[in-house]
Amino acid sequence: MRIILLGPPGAGKGTQARRLADRYGLVIIGTGDIFRDHVARGTDLGRKAKEYMDRGEYVPDEIAVRMVLERLEQPDLGDGYILDGFPRTVPQAKALEGALAAAGHPLSCALNFRISDEMAVKRLTSRLTCPDCKRAYNLSFKPPRVEGVCDVCGGRLALRSDDDEATIRRRLEVYRAETEPLELYFWERGLLRDIDAEAAEEVVYGRMIEAMSDLLDLDA
Ligand code: AMP
Repeated sequence: MRIILLGPPGAGKGTQARRLADRYGLVIIGTGDIFRDHVARGTDLGRKAKEYMDRGEYVPDEIAVRMVLERLEQPDLGDGYILDGFPRTVPQAKALEGALAAAGHPLSCALNFRISDEMAVKRLTSRLTCPDCKRAYNLSFKPPRVEGVCDVCGGRLALRSDDDEATIRRRLEVYRAETEPLELYFWERGLLRDIDAEAAEEVVYGRMIEAMSDLLDLDA
């Protein structure tokens, strides 16, 4: 199973990726998380990526593509993977498609999480993230059991530095301009499945499984 998640920041891609990965034994490849790890470790890649991330803009395609194609060569992707946050541009999608065709491993499905900009801003300005296990919480509707502490791994929850309102608005603009065209790209390939993602987590999960059911043979 090779699944792509599309959708603006705040659509719940990371949360649903985690559920899907736990249920079906898939590996999550989250490009934002990989970049943030590089930033935290102070690598060259992290330094380059940070200037773009701080502005709410995309890291150049060649950097993102190289990083993901190298990741896809690792031997731990047994039952398949979920790409969360990649591809984000048409050139990235073409590079991925080429590499997967060469490997004889086509994509299974592209899930497109839809939410309004207002809902995205509302969710992201009250989001807390665990830097260790990457789980997301929300101060308004999904608070952690103990304030400031991840329920699952005990990590210290933090606000992401790009989750301030001005940067969120810029990320949404960039998404609409650069990533929305991918809807047509994957629709033309018969792989796009739209999901109304404004509902509660559990409801969206059900919609996601239903939306993929004609493309993937999933047990419940
Ligand atoms: P995310 O955690 O998916 O919201 O990503 C955080 C930031 O990482 C984005 O705003 C971009 O600056 C950068 N980023 C993540 N994935 C990509 C990608 N596929 N292409 C370019 N930049 C990316």
